[in-house]
Amino acid sequence: MASFQTERERMVEFQIARRGVRNDRVLEAMRSVPRHLFLPDEARSYAYADCPVRIGNGQTMSQPYIVALMTELLAVESHHKALDVGTGSGYQAAILAELCQEVHTIERYHGLAERAQKNLEELGYRNVYVHVGDGTQGYPPFAPYDRIIVGAAAPSVPEALLEQLSDEGRMVIPVGSRFSQSLEVWIKKGKDIHHTSSIPVVFVPLVGKDGWNE
Ligand code: SAH
Repeated sequence: MASFQTERERMVEFQIARRGVRNDRVLEAMRSVPRHLFLPDEARSYAYADCPVRIGNGQTMSQPYIVALMTELLAVESHHKALDVGTGSGYQAAILAELCQEVHTIERYHGLAERAQKNLEELGYRNVYVHVGDGTQGYPPFAPYDRIIVGAAAPSVPEALLEQLSDEGRMVIPVGSRFSQSLEVWIKKGKDIHHTSSIPVVFVPLVGKDGWNE
């Protein structure tokens, strides 16, 4: 059986680069973060498969291509402070931690947040801060954020997230119905906010005050 490192290199080549993600920093981050270490033991063999993977509490870690595409659309720079809504396993937060200065990530389930924090710590990430709470309200203590990424499906873009985006800030978020959404990129320039839509996607629901009900 191929080593995890080899599987990761294949994942980047066949699932990500060939589908059009070309940003070198993003590809390098996808090559270096050990995705399998963010999964429970029984799910590790699926870590590099071309699909989402279950992480417990009815939640999933997104398909590798979707993580890469969202990260590329986010256009993260090394001096940025980012907010990651829906920590889940902590994998997306680790990818961001490779690419920017400081990452805040917020998760509504204590259990997932704790496990993610432990994994991030064990892998030596010192620039990621895991918080527990309702991410539809953003995370005011460290706002504004240069970049915001949302890993769960929103019925509409939560107002608090737009407010906590810095001037020239950018957000990537799946928006739509409960079972199908489109990936949207929101860009703020002073008082002007505009957005574009990327591909159709399916995410687990963003549950909270400005999201879906339980
Ligand atoms: N990015 C994650 C996967 C996200 S799955 C990873 O890399 O593994 C979506 C996550 O969003 C789930 O863990 C879910 O519990 C969480 N979530 C849903 N609604 C939320 C909310 N309002 N605030 C914070 N987290 C939320």
